[in-house]
Amino acid sequence: MSEDTAVDQQVVPGLGWPGSAGSAEPGLGWPDVSRETQPSHVAAHPPSAPDVAEDRAGEDGQLDVAAANGVPTAAQVASSFAPDENANHPVAQASAHATAVHDRRPLRRHLARPAATRRLVVANQKGGVGKTTTAVNVAAALAQHGLRVLVIDLDPQANASTALGLEHPEGTPSAYGILVDGTPIVEIAVECEAVPGLVAVPATIDLAGAEIELVSMVARETRLRRSLDAYLAAEDEAGRRVDYVLIDCPPSLGLLTVNGLTACDEMLIPIQCEYYALEGLSQLLRTIDSVKEHLNPGLRVGAIVLTMFDGRTRLASGVADEVRSHFGDLVLKTAVPRSVRISEAPSYGQTVLTYDPGSVGALCYLDVAVELSEQREDEG
Ligand code: ADP
Ligand code: MG
Repeated sequence: MSEDTAVDQQVVPGLGWPGSAGSAEPGLGWPDVSRETQPSHVAAHPPSAPDVAEDRAGEDGQLDVAAANGVPTAAQVASSFAPDENANHPVAQASAHATAVHDRRPLRRHLARPAATRRLVVANQKGGVGKTTTAVNVAAALAQHGLRVLVIDLDPQANASTALGLEHPEGTPSAYGILVDGTPIVEIAVECEAVPGLVAVPATIDLAGAEIELVSMVARETRLRRSLDAYLAAEDEAGRRVDYVLIDCPPSLGLLTVNGLTACDEMLIPIQCEYYALEGLSQLLRTIDSVKEHLNPGLRVGAIVLTMFDGRTRLASGVADEVRSHFGDLVLKTAVPRSVRISEAPSYGQTVLTYDPGSVGALCYLDVAVELSEQREDEG
């Protein structure tokens, strides 16, 4: 048996993981790591045949196409094998993966509204780990299930604004206005056309200056919190209670991120399944401790989501195991796989939930949203 096959048998992307060992001791005993991982490239072109083939070959979409053409699906082929003899056969495993993904679709229809608005800040000072991708796709998944969601883009690069199809040339009313001019969120937030129920505050490049302008301002770390408190209270009063707020942070621990951390109760930390994935996490945890102590005592790590997971490599499984052994149940069971569809969607101004709703990437982000919503129910 090849090395890759051996790994595939242990871990199926997006289908849940074996139980985690150990619990986290945040800030303690992190490995001394120092190398940067590189962000993936966003395809800036329409889907080409090879891209489609690549995504479909590795994901469930292939089965849809095959079924539509009257070609036997992997599930049908696999069911012709005697189960005991062939349980380890790659086709049977692919089938088990695909069947599980398809079988679970109907279960995702209803997500409970949380008892009160949940505010999640998506942060990790490392760039290219999937913060923006996670923020916009989780937001879209929640909104597609009838929940009211607000996304705030706090990154001057405005990638979340792009992914949500929002205009964001310099000077557009944006998070800059909230932080620097004190403009109310209601005057800046716009409906996201492709996803009903999703409202967003865009970012512009002006935000790059806000980091410096905020330094000399009064209450510089709590400006977003105040604005958000006022907006949420007004929406609530008007009978439009927001269910989830997701804030997408820049890849730094400066005042923009601190404003995000101060405005929220929970952190959603994406960790890319790459070597040295834990680099900088101890610094992030120290920043959280500092924000907790001085600005926002209620802040906690709500969840960690593993991103860009490639089940064919021992490396990704090893990183995932290590993260789980440090953080225990904080790590969501769903690991988001590397997916061409996920990386293509922003270049069309879309989330993967609207770009290719049946793709494994979209289904996995739905799973992440489901896990997040159920997590709170479990706690209650
Ligand atoms: P961050 O916001 O942390 O900098 P992004 O969400 O922008 O990270 O992701 C970095 C790059 O990786 C982007 O090009 C994005 O499209 C791509 N990417 C993120 N998640 C995935 C995934 N699961 N599969 C493929 N590409 C991904
Ligand atoms: Mg980003």
